[in-house]
Amino acid sequence: MTAASVATAAYIVAALLFILSLAGLSRHDTARRGVVYGMIGMALALAATIWLTVTASWGGPQAALGLTLLVVAMLVGAAIGLWRARRVEMTGMPQLIALLHSFVGLAAVLVGWNGALYDTGLEGALADIHHAEVFIGVFIGGVTFTGSIVAFLKLSARMSSKPLMLPGKNALNLGAVIVFLALTVWYVITPDLWLLIVVTALALALGWHLVASIGGGDMPVVVSMLNSYSGWAAAAAGFLLNNDLLIVTGALVGSSGAYLSYIMCRAMNRSFISVIAGGFGIEAPRKDDEETGEHREVDAETAAEMLAAADSVVITPGYGMAVAQAQYPVAELAARLRERGVNVRFGIHPVAGRLPGHMNVLLAEAKVPYDIVLEMDEINDDMPDTSVVLVIGANDTVNPAAAEDPGSPIAGMPVLKVWEAENVIVFKRSMASGYAGVQNPLFFRDNAQMLFGDAKERVEDILKAL
Ligand code: NDP
Repeated sequence: MTAASVATAAYIVAALLFILSLAGLSRHDTARRGVVYGMIGMALALAATIWLTVTASWGGPQAALGLTLLVVAMLVGAAIGLWRARRVEMTGMPQLIALLHSFVGLAAVLVGWNGALYDTGLEGALADIHHAEVFIGVFIGGVTFTGSIVAFLKLSARMSSKPLMLPGKNALNLGAVIVFLALTVWYVITPDLWLLIVVTALALALGWHLVASIGGGDMPVVVSMLNSYSGWAAAAAGFLLNNDLLIVTGALVGSSGAYLSYIMCRAMNRSFISVIAGGFGIEAPRKDDEETGEHREVDAETAAEMLAAADSVVITPGYGMAVAQAQYPVAELAARLRERGVNVRFGIHPVAGRLPGHMNVLLAEAKVPYDIVLEMDEINDDMPDTSVVLVIGANDTVNPAAAEDPGSPIAGMPVLKVWEAENVIVFKRSMASGYAGVQNPLFFRDNAQMLFGDAKERVEDILKAL
C-alpha cells in the first residue's frame, strides 16, 4: 500500500466522522458525542496530512522544506489559536468566528493565486478546468475574506450596524456577479494574470459591499451565510490542491451553513435571496429613534414580591444576559421559584444573543433543565396566561414594533410576544436600543417596568430578597 492510499483511507474515515459529528450536533443530548467525533476526525485528518508530507520528504530537499513549513505553520497557528481560545469571552465568540471565516477566505485566495502562478503542465480541457477552479476559488475566497472582516467589525461594534445604502446598490452587486461570470469565461480562454488581479479586486470590493449593506437585525443570517461561503472557499481550495478531504469538508460546511441561513431567514421572516444578495430589495428604513412615552421603574424587592406571588413565569434572555454572565443566578432564580411551585419556563428567540443557539449554550452551562427551555413558537401562545415575564438583557427579540409597525426596520421579524403577559420586567442598564438600533415601545407599555442595572447584580438582588 502506498503512502497516498493510507492517507486517502484516513481521509475517508475522517469525512465520515465529520458527517457523524454534524448529525450528533443537531440534538442537545447527542451534541457532546458529536463534538468528540469531530475532534477525532480532525486529529485523523491532521495526522494523515503530516504523514503525507513526511513520506514525501523522504524524496529530497524540496519535500523537507514542505515538512518544515508545515511544522512551523502548525506551531504558530496552534500557539495563536490556544492563546485566543483561552482569552475569548463567550460574548466575543461571534466576532472571533467571523475573523476565522476571513482566514479561510484569505487561504482560498492564496491557494488560487498559487495555482495560477504554478505551472501544472496541464493541457486542453484539463487546463481549462484548472483555470476555472483558480478563478472561482479566488472569487469566493475574496468575497468571504472582506465580507467576514466587515462582519467582524460590525459584531465587535467597531463599525456601525446600520446598513450602508449606496445609490443603486442592487445594480452594483448584480453587475459585479455578471462581470465575474464574463471574466471567468475570458480567463479560461486566455489565462492572463491581469484578469486574476481584476477578479481579486472585484471580489474584495463585493464582499465588503454585500455585508456592509446588511442591517443589524439581519446579521445572524450574514454570519451563517459567511460560514457557508467559507465552506465553498475551502472546497474550491480542495479542488486546486487535489485534496478530497478538503472538498468533502468544504461541501459539508458550505451546505450546512446554507441550510442554517435558510432556517434563520425563515425564523426571521426574511427572504433568503434578498439577504444573500446584500439586502436586495430592502429599502432604507424610516428614521425613528425618538422616545415613545414615559417608562416606569421597579426595584429588586418589588420584583421579588411579584415573582413570589406569580403562578407562571417566563424568562426571555438576550444578549445582555451573556454580557452580564447572568446565566448562573438566572438558573438559580428559576430553580428557587420552581421549588415554590411557580411554573417557570424559558422562551428562546432563534436569533437571541449574537450566535445561533447562544442562549441555549449559556443555559446549558448553568445546568437549566432542557425541558423548561422552549423555542419562541412553543411559548408565544402561553404569554397571555403568564403572570410575569422577565426580559433579561433582551431587546430586539421582544420588540412589539416588529409585529405592529410596518415601517420599522425589523418589521415582519417574529418576536417573543412578552407584552401580552400580565407583567413584564425588563432587566437592562439604560434605555439604549438593541443591536438593530431600533427604539423598543415595550419599555413604555403600561404592564412593563424597567429594572435598571447589570443583569447579574439585579438577579442576585432578587435572589437575596426572595
Ligand atoms: P439586543 O442586542 O437587541 O439587546 C441586548 C440588550 O442587552 C441591550 O439593549 C442592552 O441594553 C442590554 N445589556 C447589555 N449588557 C447588559 C448587562 N450587563 N446587563 C443588563 N443588560 C445588558 O439583544 P437580543 O438578544 O434581544 O437580540 C439579538 C440581536 O442581535 C438581534 O437584533 C439579532 O438580529 C442580532 N444578532 C444576532 C445574531 C445571532 O446569531 N443570534 C448574530 C448577529 C446579530 P443596555 O445597554 O441598556 O444595558
